[in-house]
Parts: sequence; structure tokens; C-alpha cells
Amino acid sequence: MNTKELLKSKNIKPTIQRIKIYEYLKTHKTHPDAETIYADLIKELPTLSLSTVYNTLKEFANNGLILEVFAEHKTYFDGYNQPHNHYICDICGKVYDINIEFNFLKKKKISGHLIKKFCGIFRGICSECQKKREQK
Ligand SMILES: [Zn+2]
Ligand SMILES: [Zn+2]
Repeated sequence: MNTKELLKSKNIKPTIQRIKIYEYLKTHKTHPDAETIYADLIKELPTLSLSTVYNTLKEFANNGLILEVFAEHKTYFDGYNQPHNHYICDICGKVYDINIEFNFLKKKKISGHLIKKFCGIFRGICSECQKKREQK
């Protein structure tokens, strides 16, 4: 299914701006924020506005097309929409996908509360930054 058909299947009008935003997220696996997406796409789409980018990302996230990654003061976006966890490096700020299975928690109760999913973010020093430190 191409992007146009995919958006239509979610009842989202496939405007060129929406298509480009979705395809940007599919090809940039770096978990960009809205400002980064806007700064890159404005070169091809001169009429694009930052609020269109925000609204489109919200709409995609609400329809399950993309994931939102909520860090302390920022929200990042991810075109890979399957459940997975994230890791943010405290030094370079890069956002990584990490595979940790929390299925053992699913449907369990903690303090009487039923667990459906885990949305936390892991933080630390990424493998690249560790290597740079060792070289010094
Ligand atoms: Zn790093
Ligand atoms: Zn991710």
C-alpha cells in the first residue's frame, strides 16, 4: 500500500504535505521532533507551516500511524509504529530504538493496577558516546 492509500484507509485526506511528512518519518529513523521535520521539509514545500506539521503529526499519532516519544521537554516522532521502547543518550541526545520485551508485565497487576503497556524512556550514555570517551 502506498502512502496515499494508507492515509485514505485511515480517513485522512492525502494532501501532498501529509504524504511528505509521513514519508519523511518512514525514511528518517532518527526520531525527529516537529521543528526538525519542518526545517527539512520547508525546502521542498515552501507553503508548509509549523502548525500544519504539528497538527499532521498529532493526527497520524491518533490514528496509530506513528508513535510519539515523550521525553522531558520534547516530543519526538517515530514512523515505526510497532510497540517498542526508547533510549535517549544524555550526552549526544540521540534517540534509539531498543528491544526489551515487557510482555511479562502485560495484563499483570501492580498494586492492584492493571498494566497495559510501558511507556518509559531509558537514559544513559549511548554506545557511540562511550567509544568516544574511551578514545580520549
Ligand atoms: Zn550519545
Ligand atoms: Zn522508535
